[in-house]
Amino acid sequence: MTTLVTSHEPRPAATDLNPFETATQQFDRIAERLGLETAARDLLRAPMREFRFQIPVRMDDGTSRVFRGVRVQHNDARGPCKGGVRFSPRGSVDEVRALAMAMTWKCAIADLPLGGAKGSIECDPRTLSLREQEQVCRGWVRQMAGNLGPDIDVPAPDVMSSAQHMAWMLDEFETVHRSRQPGFITGKPLPLGGSAGRAEATGYGAIAVLRLALEHLGLDPSRVTASVQGFGNVAQHAIRAFVARGGSVTAVSCWDHKERVAYTYTKRGGIDVDQLARITDKYGSIDMVHAIDLGYEVLPGDAWLEQAVDILIPAALEGQITAQNVARVTPRVKVILEGANGPTTAIADAQLARRNVLVVPDVLANAGGVTCSYFEQVQNNSGQLWPREEVLAKLDAWLTRAFRHVAQTAAREQIALREAAYAVAVGRVAEACTLRGWV
Ligand code: NAD
Repeated sequence: MTTLVTSHEPRPAATDLNPFETATQQFDRIAERLGLETAARDLLRAPMREFRFQIPVRMDDGTSRVFRGVRVQHNDARGPCKGGVRFSPRGSVDEVRALAMAMTWKCAIADLPLGGAKGSIECDPRTLSLREQEQVCRGWVRQMAGNLGPDIDVPAPDVMSSAQHMAWMLDEFETVHRSRQPGFITGKPLPLGGSAGRAEATGYGAIAVLRLALEHLGLDPSRVTASVQGFGNVAQHAIRAFVARGGSVTAVSCWDHKERVAYTYTKRGGIDVDQLARITDKYGSIDMVHAIDLGYEVLPGDAWLEQAVDILIPAALEGQITAQNVARVTPRVKVILEGANGPTTAIADAQLARRNVLVVPDVLANAGGVTCSYFEQVQNNSGQLWPREEVLAKLDAWLTRAFRHVAQTAAREQIALREAAYAVAVGRVAEACTLRGWV
């Protein structure tokens, strides 16, 4: 039977802090654990540089519109800053700050010679024509051109930004600087120096990490079920890799742009990712009418959270498992794999820990994306092209090393994986700052 129900977009509960407050509190706890000096704490708990600027664009109808751009460079002690540029209709600078800080930790956990950054363009690209999107991307790069580059800060795609947006940004940067610099940006299309395997790297990497977490818990990857929030880049590739290892995904949820609500789609026996992908637009929105024709049941947008499955994979956006809804996570759930950045609030995280749910934190679970971006930079800077199999094999090896190091730290210190991941990261970044004589 097909049930049609509407839903509201899940929002963080009033008791949850904003993402940057959460990130700094997390940092303070780790700094205390590591016994960091005051100067190191002052340096690392805030971004080193922030850029905020206006991007004027001539629209298709002849009028002018001004968009706001942001780039936050959190820390570059270990190497050039690295991080995506997202289209953000909500436009929160604190969100970008939190994400930039998380990039610093993520790169350090994966032991990449990179620092952390994040950027945003405040608009909804779905309301713009392709030409308008191109102008916004070019304008963002013109404003930032002097503060970006292969040795300074390397952008990449993020929420709602794609390989095509990266191609326009690359072209603008090379035009401004009058030179070819493919290492300026990652997540590019293959003909412009993109890496094989980059499109699937984050989802594929998340499942590579999940395999290790399941091993840790003594669970067989071919006998587990999952429910996923999101059906975009990360979610679709994660589902493919999960199913390829024998698991079954029984529910996915996505945002419906037309109705401006989220829905969850379920099917007895498991969803068919390729079938659903064929009726999904480039923003990860599933066509509901087609889905119903194909036998999917439609539930409220937040129903993905209360499915009786072994694993929950939030792979849409931040602040989704909150103080308000964490009690709805069923007792069957053993693992939460954070495909998205910051999907679990601090209060929800603490409650899950009390319930013995293993939360694989974002900085580890979705580090496959930035690791593959680093591989793309290495190939660009050395003129090499690695085949997909080589890229994915390297990714597996790199993430396995990162997971094992974090898991060993967690076991030794008797702390959660998130705490251990941050301890490894903050320790490495603080050491680089000290070696440079900054603190
Ligand atoms: P995307 O834009 O391709 O997909 C986002 C998906 O989330 C879409 O299916 C959309 O419909 C869905 N969604 C949005 N709001 C929703 C809601 N309220 N309820 C249910 N679904 C909703 O984005 P992506 O690249 O897959 O990124 C997803 C998350 O992963 C983000 O947090 C991003 O920062 C993080 N991430 C992405 C990468 C990457 O390589 N793409 C790397 C690391 C982390």
